[in-house]
Amino acid sequence: MQKEKITAIVLAGGSGKRMGTACKKQYLELGGRPILFYSLNTFQESCIDEIILVSNESEYCQKEIVQKYSLNKVVKIVPGGKERADSVYQGLLAAEGCSYVLIQDGARPFLTQDMIQASVSAVKKYQACVVGMPVKDTIKTADSDNFANETLARDKVWQIQTPQTFSYPLIKKAYENIMLKQPAGITDDAMVVEYGQFAKIKLIQGSYQNIKITTSEDLDVAEVFLRKLQTQ
Ligand code: C5P
Repeated sequence: MQKEKITAIVLAGGSGKRMGTACKKQYLELGGRPILFYSLNTFQESCIDEIILVSNESEYCQKEIVQKYSLNKVVKIVPGGKERADSVYQGLLAAEGCSYVLIQDGARPFLTQDMIQASVSAVKKYQACVVGMPVKDTIKTADSDNFANETLARDKVWQIQTPQTFSYPLIKKAYENIMLKQPAGITDDAMVVEYGQFAKIKLIQGSYQNIKITTSEDLDVAEVFLRKLQTQ
């Protein structure tokens, strides 16, 4: 029987505007290495067969990350699009032929082997799964004047992270559907699957450390997490 190919799509096609630095956030240094290096390296050392990197700075990525750190599972670097969903779609087109795909924000450096293993096991059973954590704070929705609308039941609310993992035919079909309809406000891949009601999404526990680096405060927190990991 032919082995099922598992591909990781790592997203670094964003502009990183919220960081407020000249350098895009995914290339800022954390512990002396670009933030993007960390998730690529974790996939490199995992059971994943190949990595597709989505970036508009392919020359920089090739030379300063892929070659420099011998990340030979990175088989393609493809340009991103206007929104995150456009970048994912470009990655999916480049991943044609795989069985399962893990979609990872390049701005999340604390991906672990346990998250990858749990995602691969769950996707084989459920076809669609995402890593996240139950929220710790009380969550309210707000109206347009910032008055509280309602309070959500905290034990039923999760903050969603990456990796988000799918059977390839399922996520390709879901993205083709969304590309035709172009709805606003798509912020993750599970939403794309929910939108077309293609599958139920299994939630699996990641870690509160699996942060996305968006603003400079996140980078300060990430330095602390990294130092802790290095002394373990
Ligand atoms: O913008 P946001 O913080 O949600 O971005 C999450 C991830 O998606 C980041 O790693 C970013 O580089 C990537 N992204 C992308 N293409 C875009 C926007 C975001 O690859 N157009």
